[in-house]
Amino acid sequence: MDNNIGLVQNLDQRVRREQLRLLSSHLPVVLPGSLLVAVLFAWGFWNTAGHTVIGAWLAVLVVVIFVRLALSYYFCHQPRSQLNDNLLKQSLLAGSFISGCLWGSAGLLFFDPDNAYGFALLVIVLGGLVAGSLGSHSYYYPNFLLFAIPEFLPLTAKLLLMEDDSYTLIALMMSLFMLLNLYYSKKYANMIEHSIRLQFANDALLQKLQASNRELHEYSYTDPLTGIGNRRQFDMDFEQTWQSASTTKAPVCLILMDVDHFKAYNDAYGHPQGDQVLKKIALVLLQVCEKYKVRGRPMRIGGEEFALLLKGDLELAANTAEVIREAVSNMKADAGVDRVVTASFGVAMAHPAEGETRTALFRAADEALYKAKTAGRNCVIVFAQKASENMAKPA
Ligand code: GH3
Ligand code: MG
Ligand code: MG
Repeated sequence: MDNNIGLVQNLDQRVRREQLRLLSSHLPVVLPGSLLVAVLFAWGFWNTAGHTVIGAWLAVLVVVIFVRLALSYYFCHQPRSQLNDNLLKQSLLAGSFISGCLWGSAGLLFFDPDNAYGFALLVIVLGGLVAGSLGSHSYYYPNFLLFAIPEFLPLTAKLLLMEDDSYTLIALMMSLFMLLNLYYSKKYANMIEHSIRLQFANDALLQKLQASNRELHEYSYTDPLTGIGNRRQFDMDFEQTWQSASTTKAPVCLILMDVDHFKAYNDAYGHPQGDQVLKKIALVLLQVCEKYKVRGRPMRIGGEEFALLLKGDLELAANTAEVIREAVSNMKADAGVDRVVTASFGVAMAHPAEGETRTALFRAADEALYKAKTAGRNCVIVFAQKASENMAKPA
């Protein structure tokens, strides 16, 4: 339960952070725009309002805009992991509130009942800024409130206090406009929050899907009994090894191994015990590969059949097979194997770059294995000719 609350809190925190990050990322566009509006606005009042007042107002606003731009640059370039959410939130909200107050103060400072042009300019600019900021400020609703209310309220209040019917009417219309903007900003903010949550849910689903795909891949390419690669893995490795050896013009060797008289072993000791032997053989194969730094991995390609692909010469492959044969026949010393278990080996080599085929290599190794069986088992037979020469014979 506590864990769930923690997860929800964590999600809320991430959503909030994303909202603030989006808000901050729009400032480099929004702030230069509002700077331009401020300059034109000051120009509009230059001859009617006192130069000192309009100059000072503009100077303060310009400073605020540049500080906000610098902060937005700082936050946009901070790694997400190091982002201080509180600092980001406070600086964004403070910046919006101070800007709102400065524009709101313009409503008080520059309103002059005798200057109809100035009044029109004030209403248009203040209204336009609220409407214009709806998109960029609504990523986080409190941010819109902190900008729009102090921006709009002073002039609206002043008009109402004038107790003049025409000004009251304009103030009421401005209030209505403001309410509509607040309503749509809230709706917009909710939509954005919802889409951020959906995006996070999608990301989480995608991660789960990728993890279960990896697991599925792992399952389908692994032999469940021994834990080493299965026939599917072998086919894939065979193709990849072949292709890379074609490019590097290196030979490819294949060792095929088949446990001797395994049916008899099962009959004598039971299938479960036979399974233990197969597991043990897989372990021995892995140990030999690790000990001799063999550049290949063993795979179980059939019931009691194993394979090992190697890049290197035939002698190396024959020696590796011999080491494995010896290790398998020595397994009895270990617990879990009730009598001497042996295996027979067929080894062959092919040159992919010389036009030989995988089928030819497999057949050559299989034929060598067959010979090892007929030669009395528990031995390694190397297919000495070119693997492709074996293709002439029926499989
Ligand atoms: P050979 O020396 O000629 O290879 O004789 P073999 O008895 O090993 O060969 P055969 O093909 O007659 O029998 C293979 C046996 O392997 C039969 C089957 O019961 C056993 N086997 C195959 N898969 C498994 C397995 O997963 N677990 C166990 N315990 N036995 C298996
Ligand atoms: Mg067999
Ligand atoms: Mg066998």
